Amino acid sequence: MPTRTERALGAVIGSAVGDALGAPFEFGPEGAFSARFPAPGTGGEMCGGGGWDPGEATDDTQMAVLVAESLLERGGLDLPDVFHRFRRWAAADPKDIGLQTEAVLTSGDPWDLAAALHFRTSQRAAGNGALMRAAPSAVYFAPLGRATTMDAARRLSALTHGDRAAWEGTAVLHELIRVALTGADHVTAVPDTLGAVHPDHRERYTTVLAPDWHPDRATEFNGAVWPCLASAVWALRTTTGYEDAVRAAIDLGGDTDTVAAVTGGLAGAVYGIDAVPARWTGALHVPLPGFAGRVLTTADLTSLVRRLCG
Ligand SMILES: [Mg+2]
Repeated sequence: MPTRTERALGAVIGSAVGDALGAPFEFGPEGAFSARFPAPGTGGEMCGGGGWDPGEATDDTQMAVLVAESLLERGGLDLPDVFHRFRRWAAADPKDIGLQTEAVLTSGDPWDLAAALHFRTSQRAAGNGALMRAAPSAVYFAPLGRATTMDAARRLSALTHGDRAAWEGTAVLHELIRVALTGADHVTAVPDTLGAVHPDHRERYTTVLAPDWHPDRATEFNGAVWPCLASAVWALRTTTGYEDAVRAAIDLGGDTDTVAAVTGGLAGAVYGIDAVPARWTGALHVPLPGFAGRVLTTADLTSLVRRLCG
């Protein structure tokens, strides 16, 4: 059984690995990963492409690192500080950034209004862009229990996403990671977690997190929060290890980097860092546009996670 620290490392680094592994397949067809790499465990999968170097993590992990560094440097949840870091990053022209995240971060509106104002005019803000950066805050808040963890998740998502659907999905993911970090079964925790979801959103999450849900039943593109979260839970339910779960996620096609980042975060918490192949973590690196050209390696992420664990 992995230790709690090994699971925390698995969550954050496993998410980053999924992001980097899935990025070259973004908006591609179903099954593209398995078509190119038919046998698991053979190597070469961290291939780069589509503008990404092999092992290069995208906006998903870049924003996750910004959250982690804010939590550590501010000694807790400092929402204006997180928003300020996001805005500094967005202004530095990252290679990729979610549409609604970009609209909110470049609006010039204050931190506590920007996402809500954007949602009021767009009416579309239930993307997976807050889900994808969940691993560090899930690790950081986990020792404080379910209510605090889910509350922090909602507040962090609300910085960029005005739709409560995104807050609730992000809160669910935080809680499932929190449970997995304790060594308990995250699947068994789903009903209790749904009980803590806002009543207006409970039914829809109950549907997509049901044991018989399949990605074929998604009613939106997996760039939306519901099918993205549900696909990650499905990928873990239908596989028995980190590598196969992430492969299944990327093979869904669509928003592959984010679905794999979410899947990899949960799978890393469940199976621990030793289940994340070294041939993938070895190539992993996270550029941080707007932050003096810094590029984090797996060793840097490891030290970040150890500090998040306190
Ligand atoms: Mg991305």
